[in-house]
Amino acid sequence: MDLTYNTKNAWETFDSAEKACVFSFCEDYRNFLNTAKTERLVIKEAVKIAKENGFCDLAEKDTLVPGDKIYFVNRNKNILLATIGKEDILNGINFIISHIDSPRIDIKQNPLYEDCDLSLLKTHYYGGIKKYQWTALPLSLIGTVFLSDGTELEISIGENEDDPVFCISDLLIHLADKQMQQKMFEAFKGETLNIIIGSTPDKSSEKDKFKMAILKILNEKYSMTEEDFVSAELEAVPSTKATDVGLDRSLLGSYAHDDRVCAYTSLRALLEINEPKKTSVCLLVDKEEIGSMGNTGMRSASFEYAIGTIINKIKGNYSELMLKETLRNSFCLSADVNGAMDPYYQEPFEKQNAAVCGRGIVITKYTGSRGKSGTSDANAEFVFKIRNIFNKEGIIWQSAELGKTDAGGGGTIAQYVANLDVEVLDCGVALLSMHAPFELASKADIYSAYKAYKAFYKNC
Ligand code: MN
Ligand code: MN
Repeated sequence: MDLTYNTKNAWETFDSAEKACVFSFCEDYRNFLNTAKTERLVIKEAVKIAKENGFCDLAEKDTLVPGDKIYFVNRNKNILLATIGKEDILNGINFIISHIDSPRIDIKQNPLYEDCDLSLLKTHYYGGIKKYQWTALPLSLIGTVFLSDGTELEISIGENEDDPVFCISDLLIHLADKQMQQKMFEAFKGETLNIIIGSTPDKSSEKDKFKMAILKILNEKYSMTEEDFVSAELEAVPSTKATDVGLDRSLLGSYAHDDRVCAYTSLRALLEINEPKKTSVCLLVDKEEIGSMGNTGMRSASFEYAIGTIINKIKGNYSELMLKETLRNSFCLSADVNGAMDPYYQEPFEKQNAAVCGRGIVITKYTGSRGKSGTSDANAEFVFKIRNIFNKEGIIWQSAELGKTDAGGGGTIAQYVANLDVEVLDCGVALLSMHAPFELASKADIYSAYKAYKAFYKNC
């Protein structure tokens, strides 16, 4: 009897050559994290990587044949990459779908104001955050502004060493007696997460001197006016770089592991799949953190549009039935993170069904909250198929759910893909401090995800 199920630490299984592969792969991933801090930047980087690896824009191809590698970018915020398989596409596609949006602090559309001789930007946080974690932290401003003349201005301030950064202030501990007594939810309000952007007055202005000083800088440096904020998407993200953690450098700490760890590993896996049996697709979607809504999220019809277009370019014709047959025969790994057992916060986890850092990629049959509300609950038949592939390919994996039954919960894109009649299983890396500005992942788990995704593309 092999009693290592769910208890085998991946590091114990690596020889020195494989350990070197783990470290070198994670070095590539670290660079990716530091280049691609927003969903738009992930798309840019993914297109660059795709082109370097022989992929071309779907629009450039009139027909598709086995072995072709294409990508389709939807509104600069999600991307589908496909390698066309030898088998009839109607027999199904192997999908790995992850998300590339991460919790962050968005700048409001009318953000600029002054108070206490400081200029500030009002914000609206995006996704689930513990607000206190985002105060007293260096932040970068990254995004896109459409100026009144139609110019698209790309902004990135805070990422280079000599750039200034921005910051949300926090109350000094000396005067925080009342704050410390409050419930965390009440102590930190969304409206207090405003970002300090300057502190010099514009001497020539009659009023709003501090606000005016910032507007002048924006105008001189970027030809930007106050109204331009309305057509802007500016995101404040941690300025900190992804960094090795631990004396043994076994962990990688970074902003936005959720879910770039699955996005990057699945993208890398697809790059190495040549002339697969089944058409293999890596899809990186937006808006998962806010419910997968919108035309760049998983619930968007743009997904069926892209698959329909691929079918049409392979078959020379298209019908709704062909699309439905393709999806019905398809398999999907919903590649998203799970929570790793935290030594200080073990209580909300159910130990026997919780993920542990370093024990490999996590299979999560269902997510949801309480009585499995809001989950697709993968079919045992499909879980068996994946488990079997992983075992045959020597993948280190573990099985977990997200916390105790009554502890809370969450969902992934799995349910929306399952609703399209696809077999779906959640499968990704376990994180410590998920959704914090600095999340931790084991390099062993990152590497096992990459190997697992490759095994799925090859064998499913
Ligand atoms: Mn996620
Ligand atoms: Mn998340």
